[in-house]
Amino acid sequence: MTMTPSDAAARRAVRPVICYPTETLPAPDLALYRRARDGARKVAEVTVAPREAATFRADAGQFFRITSVEGPQVGDLNLWNSRDLSERFYSGKTRALHGTHLTEGERMWSSFPHLRPMATIVADTLSWYGIDDYGGSVHDVIGTRCDPYTGNLLSGTQYHHCCHSNLTRALADELGVSAAGAEPHVHDVLNVFMCTGFTRDTGQYFMKASPVRPGDHLEFFAEIDLLGALSACPGGDCSDEHSSDTAACYPLLVEVFAPEPGALDGWESPPVNGYDRSHGR
Ligand SMILES: [Zn+2]
Repeated sequence: MTMTPSDAAARRAVRPVICYPTETLPAPDLALYRRARDGARKVAEVTVAPREAATFRADAGQFFRITSVEGPQVGDLNLWNSRDLSERFYSGKTRALHGTHLTEGERMWSSFPHLRPMATIVADTLSWYGIDDYGGSVHDVIGTRCDPYTGNLLSGTQYHHCCHSNLTRALADELGVSAAGAEPHVHDVLNVFMCTGFTRDTGQYFMKASPVRPGDHLEFFAEIDLLGALSACPGGDCSDEHSSDTAACYPLLVEVFAPEPGALDGWESPPVNGYDRSHGR
């Protein structure tokens, strides 16, 4: 045990500062997006089967909505630039910019060197939830995705319907490649509808029953051309167990909507990040 210094209380009492104040982040024009959404028509839909994943595409300027149907269900979302899969959702930087959980007006940011908004949340029927007494909230970017490697590490299992494997199979089918070819593209997710936090006493990642109910949805505006993959997590509402076939699981619905021509006049798909990439050399 290290000795507690005599000024420990004073050091702990230092006030935190926000790492990334977001006042200078380019703000989405939500009023424009909502006007464009009003006249939009549905152009595609896919139902994600329980303990499986499915892919979808949304072009820049379109909207996609993820809806709970039949019962409470958590979804694990991956996003890629559909023209360049090396540009993909960056969970860690999104967390640093927006906090542990996302809601209306916040964005999913892409990996380096692109670091630009991929999708903006325009509607969240669970925005009322806020942060509960346990420190839990909904739609997190603090978890990773359930995966067979951690299950094997902790319990020696060979389970094939974790979100990581579901996303791998769905992407492999979409791209016409093997599972081994698709797997490196799978990345940390936005945990749609999942209710999570960190315990205050031990700092451990926790989950609790999602407050999502059929009809609840999370809707996004696609800032760039997107390929998405959504897994209906084997944890169901994630109230108890994941990485097994034990939990009750339900489908998730993904719908894509296209605005009327001209509805987005004045809007432009965001350019890649402006850093010159010379890295001081
Ligand atoms: Zn999962």
